[in-house]
Parts: sequence; structure tokens; C-alpha cells
Amino acid sequence: MTVMIDETHDPARGSWVKGADGHGNFPVQNLPLGIFDAGDGERRPGVAIGDHVLDLRAASAAGLLPDNVAGVLAEASLNRLFALPADVRLALRHSLSALLSEPGHREAVTPLLHRAASCTLHLPFAIGDYTDFYVGIHHANNIGRQFRPDNPLLPNYKHVPIGYHGRASSIRPSGVPVVRPNGQRKPPDADAPTFGPSRRLDYELELGVWIGTGNALGEPIPIGRARDHVAGLSLLNDWSARDLQAWEYQPLGPFLAKNFQSTISPWVVTAEALAPFRIAQPPRPEGDPRPLPYLWDDADQREGALAIELEVRIATRAMREAGLASERLSIGPASNMYWTIAQIVAHHSSNGCDLNPGDLLGTGTISAPGDDGYGSLMEISRGGARPFVLSNGEERSFLEDGDEVLLSARARADRAVTIGFGPCRATILPAREA
Ligand code: CA
Repeated sequence: MTVMIDETHDPARGSWVKGADGHGNFPVQNLPLGIFDAGDGERRPGVAIGDHVLDLRAASAAGLLPDNVAGVLAEASLNRLFALPADVRLALRHSLSALLSEPGHREAVTPLLHRAASCTLHLPFAIGDYTDFYVGIHHANNIGRQFRPDNPLLPNYKHVPIGYHGRASSIRPSGVPVVRPNGQRKPPDADAPTFGPSRRLDYELELGVWIGTGNALGEPIPIGRARDHVAGLSLLNDWSARDLQAWEYQPLGPFLAKNFQSTISPWVVTAEALAPFRIAQPPRPEGDPRPLPYLWDDADQREGALAIELEVRIATRAMREAGLASERLSIGPASNMYWTIAQIVAHHSSNGCDLNPGDLLGTGTISAPGDDGYGSLMEISRGGARPFVLSNGEERSFLEDGDEVLLSARARADRAVTIGFGPCRATILPAREA
């Protein structure tokens, strides 16, 4: 099913929920889904509207939603909801849009709203598998150049979407602190490795792609159908310990440098909500190889990228204690991806690997070409060789204990209401004693 723009995206549509119209993240055109509790420990599905959360389980019990979603709304994850046929999910979106925009529903729905500030957001899915790709070509160039100045991209990069299997168990929602990892590291000038707290802790700005309906083992997802398998997107911070990574990554790739924790924004911005923000995939530079047929689809090239602006900010402990606002580290468009989301989904399943509802695919760090758009400190500080100074005078090459990193994203397009992803933030805690 191709997602269409319909009345749920209409910029003229407003909400009776106070503060929803003009809300930077969650106006009624967005309707992102998540799992929350309202301080009572009962994890249930909800939808964000302005600064409130609508309890979908309660709305269903009150007879306000289609009968065929009652079962999946009894779950404490969205896996079964997003495994439903696309037309059922679309009908739910239309119901929610009507409930939250038509004043006639106000009386029945108001008691089912919770102030977001009094809710806790949890992981939206029981995540079976997490795979991280490497499609941010400027990031790949910047990192590659630090290791191979004359030949930053390896020969496979423009032929195959590079990825590796990550770790699902350590993914946490926004707000859960990150304990600095201990690990084995060996600086190039040291004779032997040592074990201890990472000295080069970094973040990675990524989009997280949630799989909705999956595929059976042995049955690849064709590129022309790949989009139908994407439930929606979140922000993903793939925290990385660069010193551990440099020592361990050959020959099998990232391991303990990456799997100690990853942070996601807990609201799933659905594929339906993103329909107005589809744009053409930027053309490949002259001379680049044309992808093999299993990775090429004309429609995907026409509208397989997204008009999403990505931003990273930092608030150090000293900044917070002084009451200073967070400071921007980078801003840039998500279209700096060499491969589309459909291409990474098609590639992942091309060998018959089965993807399941709630699987998470990271895009890889998304950097813009200019140095105001770098998606990691490894790039901003040139591997630590060029520390930078924050406006309060503090200097950084990599993250210090107490630093808070905040990722945010906004989808913007003409004739559409801007929608956001909500926060993806976490603070670094000191390492545990090794
Ligand atoms: Ca990554």
C-alpha cells in the first residue's frame, strides 16, 4: 500500500486539545504512537497530542476506536499493532484524527488524556533484533579519511548498503542515563592494551527505522514493496566508545564499543504521518555505479527520501548548573543518506533473512557535508585533534561525565504542518569501578 496524503494531514485541521495547534512536535497531523504509563506502572499504548498523551487502551474500552484494534491495544508493546494490515492501521489513524480534532468528541476523550509531563515513556516495541547501517556518506567519508586519507571509502560502499548486527537488549528510551563503559583500549603509541573507562565516548546521530509487517524466512522483500514494511521512524543515538572501537573492530566490526547502550526517542512517527515529507533521493554523483536491480526502484528514487531536519545539542553539567541553555553541535538534513530506507530494508532481506515486527534498523550516522552538520564528535573534533570550545568556555573533544546530549528532528514541507519526533536525550554517568 502506498501511503497517501489525506485529510489527516490537512494543515487546516486543528485540535481541541489545548496547546496542540502549533506544537513543535505533536500537532494533530502527527499522531505518533508509543508505550507509556501514567505513574501507575501500567504500560499501555498511547498517542501524543500536544503536551498530552491519549490512553488508547482506555479509548478502546470506551468504544471510541475500531473494534479490530482492541486486542492489540491490550498489549504492552506495539509489535502486534504494527503487524496489522495497513488498512487497519490507517483506519486507526483516521479515528484518532477525528477524536482529537472534532469538538464533539471533547467530552468523551478529555478524561482519557494525561499530561505528558506526568507520564513515563517506555520502549515502543519488544525489539527482537537491531541492525545498524552506514548510509551517511559524509560520515563514512569523514571517518574513513581519518584512517585512510587518500581512500576514505572502501570499494564496496557504493555497491552494497554496509551494516552489522547490533544489540537489542541495551536499547533504552530517551531519559535513561548512560553509564560510561569500561573496556579494553590501546592507544597507537602504547605497547600493550589496558582496561578502564572509555576516554573517547561519542554519540552518533541516526534515524531508527521500525519494521512493521515482516517477511517469512527465505522470502526476500522486493525493493518495490519495502516501504510497506516500515512502521515508522524514531531518533537513534548509537553511543560509541571510539577508543574501544579502534582496538576491537578488526576483523569482525563493532562489538563492545557500541553495545553498552543505544538511546531512542520513544514515539514512533508513523509512515502515514511522514507521507507529506517524502522527497526525491538525491541523485548519485556522476560516475557512481548504478545499484544492482534488486536495490533499484524508480518510485523509491522519486520519493524515497524524507525532508527531515536533524539537530544535536549538548548541555554540560556546568551549563545546567549555571542555568544556561543547551548549545547546538550540529544541524542538517536527513537526505544525506547514500541509500534509501527502502534500499536497506530490501538489502537486509535479500538473502532471505526474516525481519519481524518491532525490529530496529539504524541508518548509520547522518552528517551533512559542512562542519556545522557533523553527526558525531569524532568528526567535529577531528578524532580529538581539534577540541572545540563551548560558549561558557568549556572545551570538549569527546563526552565528559555529566554531559547531556539531545537529538531532535522536524519534518517540514510546503503545504504541510511541521511535525517533530520528540526528544532523544541522555546524560553520561561516571564509569563503574572496573
Ligand atoms: Ca552507528
